[in-house]
Amino acid sequence: MRITDIRPYTVTVPLHAALRHANGCHWGRFVRTIIEVETDTGLIGLGEMGGGGESAEKAILGLKAYLIGHDPARLEEMRFRIANPTASLYNNRTQLLAALEFACLDILGQAWNVPVHAILGGKLRDRVPFASYLFWRYGDPKTGKEEVRTADQLLALARELKNKYGFTSHKLKAGVFHPDYEVEAFRALGNEFPADGVRIDPNGAWSTEQAIRVGQAIEDLRNDYLEDPVYGLNGLRRVRQMVRIPLATNTVVVNFEQLAANVLDVGCDVILLDTTFWGGIRPCIKAAGVCETFQLGVAVHSSGELGIQLATMLHLGAVIPNLSFAADAHYHHLTDDIIEGGLMPYENGSIAVPDGPGLGVKLNREKLRQYQELYRELGGYPYDQDPLRPAWAPIIPNDRWADPKDDRRPNL
Ligand SMILES: [Mg+2]
Repeated sequence: MRITDIRPYTVTVPLHAALRHANGCHWGRFVRTIIEVETDTGLIGLGEMGGGGESAEKAILGLKAYLIGHDPARLEEMRFRIANPTASLYNNRTQLLAALEFACLDILGQAWNVPVHAILGGKLRDRVPFASYLFWRYGDPKTGKEEVRTADQLLALARELKNKYGFTSHKLKAGVFHPDYEVEAFRALGNEFPADGVRIDPNGAWSTEQAIRVGQAIEDLRNDYLEDPVYGLNGLRRVRQMVRIPLATNTVVVNFEQLAANVLDVGCDVILLDTTFWGGIRPCIKAAGVCETFQLGVAVHSSGELGIQLATMLHLGAVIPNLSFAADAHYHHLTDDIIEGGLMPYENGSIAVPDGPGLGVKLNREKLRQYQELYRELGGYPYDQDPLRPAWAPIIPNDRWADPKDDRRPNL
């Protein structure tokens, strides 16, 4: 089997609301690049990647010269062909490699008539549990609805998502407002659901001392873990000495060099694996194996997925024995999907692992066209900008917090 064509499509799919985070905002939509890899057998594999509000079409097209004629089964060969680590100082293609790996695994599964999880060791579970992933949100520009700015609004959203989807773990994306304000809201969340797990993630925005103070102030809650309270392994090591909550990261352990450093001198107890950041599903499984050996926890990170990437997260979650926590997904913030059948359903806080050949998802061509058109209309968005604070940029540690009294709504 040989690759004969690679086709990227940029789409933008609306969210229920603009999601605020420590670096800025998702401006009411996700921009994703969907890829199709076609082979001489007629089989087509699907991949997906994100680009922080930008399209990655040109970067994907640039790899055609490397991969036309390549056998999609030779995944390690592909890795060295386009993402040799010693060449990556010039061309960091880890995320492109990930999207192509997804597509090649999808092709192989179809060719062999097995689901991707069967290629990757076989599934250990039929469903993958997810956390609720709560965000501070801007309200609808016309109605003001959907706003999440106060602890009461946060609890209302958490109750709504729990009732609708059955989540038993709740994550607060923090780092937007001053940590004292966010801790109060997070404590309210923990007290609202005392039998559920909670996790807070300020994306490394706090100083080490702030993180220690916050960590100690939430130690009595049923914390899954404390996620990226500071940026950097040494800061995490210092927080870990002073706070009795497992620490997790998806920012400073995202490759094998960093994983080795963390094993030799532990700064993080739980590694959040991202099928995009690590360059594919297979490297995540390798990393989970290292974590199993050293008895570090593992969970699945979300970088803002549509159904194709969600499928990769489900296959990953299905095959790793040490998935010790509910996975993260932005998925329920989406209003629609580009796969056949629309948004995959949640049940009891979990999503079924696809069992069809390959990734087990198919493109809905009509939806693809619709959301390509929407991208052409709206264009990209700056993921690392707050629409209501032009020219603002957060520093690390941050002290340029948003004002929780500011109830303005951006017209996005
Ligand atoms: Mg995180």
